Amino acid sequence: MAVTWPPSLWAHVSPPGPDLPMLEGDVTTEAVVVGAGFTGLSTALHLREAGIPTVVVEAAEPGWGASGRNNGQVIPTLSRHDPAAIIARHGDAGLRFVHVLRDSASILFDLVRRHDIAAEAEQAGWLQPVHTPGRMKIAERRVKDWGSHGAPVELIDRARMRDLLGSEAWFGGWSNSSGGHINPLMLARGMAQAVLTAGATIYARSPAQKVEHRDGRWVVQTARGTVTARALVLATHAYTGEFSRELAPEIAKEVVPTLSWQMATQPIGHNVAGSIIPGRQAMSDTHGELYFTRWDARGRLVTGGAVAIPLNQAARLRPMIAARLQKLWPQLGEVSFDHVWSGYIGMTPDYFPRLHRLGPDGYAWAGCNGRAVALSVALGREFSRAVQGTPETELGLPFTRPTPIPLHGIARRVAPLMLNLYRWRDAREV
Ligand SMILES: Cc1cc2nc3c(=O)[nH]c(=O)nc-3n(C[C@H](O)[C@H](O)[C@H](O)COP(=O)(O)OP(=O)(O)OC[C@H]3O[C@@H](n4cnc5c(N)ncnc54)[C@H](O)[C@@H]3O)c2cc1C
Repeated sequence: MAVTWPPSLWAHVSPPGPDLPMLEGDVTTEAVVVGAGFTGLSTALHLREAGIPTVVVEAAEPGWGASGRNNGQVIPTLSRHDPAAIIARHGDAGLRFVHVLRDSASILFDLVRRHDIAAEAEQAGWLQPVHTPGRMKIAERRVKDWGSHGAPVELIDRARMRDLLGSEAWFGGWSNSSGGHINPLMLARGMAQAVLTAGATIYARSPAQKVEHRDGRWVVQTARGTVTARALVLATHAYTGEFSRELAPEIAKEVVPTLSWQMATQPIGHNVAGSIIPGRQAMSDTHGELYFTRWDARGRLVTGGAVAIPLNQAARLRPMIAARLQKLWPQLGEVSFDHVWSGYIGMTPDYFPRLHRLGPDGYAWAGCNGRAVALSVALGREFSRAVQGTPETELGLPFTRPTPIPLHGIARRVAPLMLNLYRWRDAREV
């Protein structure tokens, strides 16, 4: 069974991943991980570093889901909520989660260095410029809040932000120097290789049909085999319902999988490139309809956007995002895109992620809200600590019960229309 990859820049430029077998027959192990994105691969890698026998079961290939299709921005924050809001919601567990989040970018870059993974990783920092003068207050609040938890953050005034971005479009903002960017598919494939080298097995092209806790063990069932284990980490995130409706419907239905489009420009000439984000930081701003971009390793700007109506999306986005880039950086001149692709983001109605203990030694999460490249790698470490028996009072995992969204099918159809609301708000803001 061959796997079809999205027509992404990353699929075009990344070396192939390791050759992996399909699951055939019945296997017993200590920990089974379902899903080989950043969450599952990081969990497996940390488990193997602790000497725990581990098996990964992946429906397609490592990195096939959001992990291999994203913008590659390594950002140690949630998309909307800051430490004060996280702690107000989750108390002490929230505080420990804030610490995981604060360290998440460094956890990712350290893992890349420790395992010598070729992932075009650049820990050049992350910038969040503000798109209205009024939004400087948000930047000030974030710097104060994250700064009080020891994050390497800094407030940036308008003149400095103009120099950092090479654009007049923003009014200042803030930075976190631990962030940066990666080639996400190279990272996923490199992590898969590191998982194999560490002694785990990864079965690919083997969709889990269902997962059960039976006679004190977790059993993962695929078309041609089973994996039985003491512990389970379900790391299927926004793709949970993609291959089997029976897998974990309560988790599949607590997020709205929302299409996010990514696009890579043609390589930009050196004379112009040097004037655009010369420090090569990752950048995503404060628009409700997010403006974001980063350089790749071959002189392309990787950016993206969304359209509310699901019709000819790629064709409609090309001129729209080209015009946006030209407005932000007039020095670019004519812009065209060599690669346009999409993937599912798991959105929750309140923009908080959901973390779950599914039963004895069973864990899952969903709800990245478009920002969890760093977090998913960091959560893998936390899940591996949970599987090893670390008490809940020491984990940065604020567990809640799965709460499916009522009328999920309708919510899924209506959610893209929220974009119109964000645009309207963005246009009115001062
Ligand atoms: C287009 C896009 C752009 C994004 N940009 C950014 C960004 O720049 N910065 C940022 O911080 N975040 C970004 N995100 C979010 C980030 O990519 C995700 O939060 C992160 O990759 C989630 O990783 P994961 O391992 O939890 O899930 P995934 O990477 O989605 O992994 C889930 C895996 O489970 C597998 N699976 C599903 N069902 C089954 C089954 N039945 N059996 C076995 N396996 C199964 C899938 O095939 C998949 O490989 C973006 C997301 C998208 C979609």
